[in-house]
Amino acid sequence: MSNLTVYLTIDDCPSSFMREKVDALLENKISAVWYCRGEFMEKNFAHVVYAIEKGFWIGNHSFTHPHFSDITIEQARQEIEQTEILINKAYSIAQAPRPAKLFRFPYMDKGQKQGLTHVKAIQDLLSSLEFERLNFQGTERHPALIEREEDIDAAWTFDAREYALFSEATKKKFNLFKTADFVQRIAEELFQFRRTTEIVLFHDFEQTHELFSPLLTKLLDLNVQFRAPLLQKHVPLGIEKPLAQLAVASEESPADA
Ligand SMILES: [Zn+2]
Repeated sequence: MSNLTVYLTIDDCPSSFMREKVDALLENKISAVWYCRGEFMEKNFAHVVYAIEKGFWIGNHSFTHPHFSDITIEQARQEIEQTEILINKAYSIAQAPRPAKLFRFPYMDKGQKQGLTHVKAIQDLLSSLEFERLNFQGTERHPALIEREEDIDAAWTFDAREYALFSEATKKKFNLFKTADFVQRIAEELFQFRRTTEIVLFHDFEQTHELFSPLLTKLLDLNVQFRAPLLQKHVPLGIEKPLAQLAVASEESPADA
């Protein structure tokens, strides 16, 4: 039993398994926001359309997944806009209005290595492109991350780090000598902070797809309460409503941006 509330977000989609993950979430009535990489959308585009049809929200996670501290503002614009074209196309094919433009940085790198001016310039760029901030009510700020009230991008507070299992080198890097109970380990790590609410980051990588359902099962067994975030305008994004109706749940949200 637990009193933990979890906002589930999934980065680095779509893999060839995204549709299976969508079905697993639907089966368990769990909502999630998906942050897509443009380069992956070109390969598994139909899965993104499918997720939209099922009522899930799709966010932008850049095109090539760069560190935003290492690129110029113009490059940042290209990374975001190239992916926007694909996301808009997916909504169009799904014949669903796009409820909001959402963004998450790769590596949670907001450009901070180039200083606050660069960070602000990128936030201004997101704002000018009409991105909106999600409201993960009840979460505390992540102590290791710079997060400012006015930032538009989506934060996370707990990274499941499935990518640690990619290779022997990454296993060593993340100090994983025993991988048989990786799901158990993630669950234990999730509770170690003793917070009431976590924005959990899972990944849609091909290599670690097999962890997805066991992770969901584990969290459900621990009685985690899954919740959907709100738009800053307090537009419900929740599974409490039928997923298919979510896209038209709000009259406040912009129609198609
Ligand atoms: Zn990523």
